[in-house]
Amino acid sequence: MARVYNFSAGPSMLPEKVLATAAAEMMEYGTSGQSVMEMSHRSKEYDAIIKETEALLREVMNIPDNYKVLFLQGGASTQFAMMPLNLMNGSGKADFVITGQWANKAYQEAARYGEANVIASSKDKTFSYIPKLDPSTFTKDADYFHICVNNTIYGTKYNEFPDTGDVPLIGDISSCILSEPIDVSKFGMLYAGAQKNMAPAGLTIVIIREDLLGNVRDICPTMLNYQTHVDNDSMFNTPPCYCIYVAGLVLKWIKEDIGGLENMKAINEKKAKLLYDFLDNSKMFKGTVVPEDRSLMNVPFITGNEELDAKFVKEAKAAGFVNLKGHRSVGGMRASIYNAMPVEGVEKLVAFMAEFEKANS
Ligand SMILES: *Cc1c(COP(=O)(O)O)cnc(C)c1O
Repeated sequence: MARVYNFSAGPSMLPEKVLATAAAEMMEYGTSGQSVMEMSHRSKEYDAIIKETEALLREVMNIPDNYKVLFLQGGASTQFAMMPLNLMNGSGKADFVITGQWANKAYQEAARYGEANVIASSKDKTFSYIPKLDPSTFTKDADYFHICVNNTIYGTKYNEFPDTGDVPLIGDISSCILSEPIDVSKFGMLYAGAQKNMAPAGLTIVIIREDLLGNVRDICPTMLNYQTHVDNDSMFNTPPCYCIYVAGLVLKWIKEDIGGLENMKAINEKKAKLLYDFLDNSKMFKGTVVPEDRSLMNVPFITGNEELDAKFVKEAKAAGFVNLKGHRSVGGMRASIYNAMPVEGVEKLVAFMAEFEKANS
C-alpha cells in the first residue's frame, strides 16, 4: 500500500483510522450480517447510527438545544436556494459579503427570490482578504445576513463574525466545519457540504435555530423545506446513509483520538504555521492572502512564474504530494490541509518545497 499525501480541496483525505474501521466493518456491521451500505434506513441498526452521529455532532460542536441538526443531500450548493426559499419570508431582503465564488453563488441564487444586497466585497484584490464591515451599512430588516466563513478557493477566513443584531447570521462552513470550535449561538444557521472535512461526498449538514423554521414560502418544494426534514428526523426520504455513518466515525475520531475541537484547532494551527512560516521566508514561493485573514485549511501560494508552478506541481505529484494545483481563478498552487492531513504531511511538503527552491534558483 502506498498512500499519498492528498492536498485536494474536496473531496479530501479522511483519517486512516476511520478508513480502517469502515473497511473492517464493510462486510458486516456489528452482528447485523450486512454492510451499512446495504442496510435499510428504517432498520434498528441504522436508527442507532444516525442518532449517535447527531449526538456526537451536537457534543463535539457544542450545539445548543434550540438548534435542529439536519442530514441532507444536494451539497452546500442546494443551500444557496433553500436559504431564500425558507428564510426570505419577512422583508424579502438579505445581506451578503462577497469573499469569493461560493459567497457570490449564495448571493446570486438569493437574488432570484428577493432583494439581495452586497454589503462588501473583496473582489478588487482577487478575494485575498476579508473586507472590514460597518454595521451601519447592514439592512436593518433583512431576513438573514450571509457569510462564507472559510473561503476554500482563495484561502481566507473570518476571525471575527459581523454583529448583525437581530438579523440571523448564516455561515457557510463547508471547508472549516470541525476544524476549530465555533460559537453556534452567534448564528441563525450554519451549513456545510461534508466532503471537505467530515465525510465522503453526498452529505450536507444544516444546523438551524428553531425560531427560523415554519415560515416557509408557498412555492418551496417539499424536499427543499427545512421543516419537512425536521419533522421526519432527516428521514423524509432515504438519507445519505453511508456518508452519515462515516461522519459518525470521523466525529468519534475527533472526540476520542484528538480530544475535541480545541485540540483539533491546535493541530491545525501547527500545520498552517509550518506552511505559512515557510512561505513568508521563501524567496521563490509566496502566499496570496494578507496574514491576518489566512485560512487554517486552504493555503494558496504562487511562484509568480507559471512554468515554474507547473514544474512544481508535476514534481510534487511524482514525490507523493498530490492535488496541489491551484484553482484556475488564482493560479499557482493550493495546499488544502484539512483535519485528516497529518502534521508529518505538511512537514514533508515544506521540506520538498525547500529542496525544490534550492534546485531551481
Ligand atoms: C465546496 C464548497 C461549496 C460547494 O459545495 P457542494 O457540496 O459541492 O455543493 C460551497 N461552499 C464552500 C465554502 C465550499 O468549500
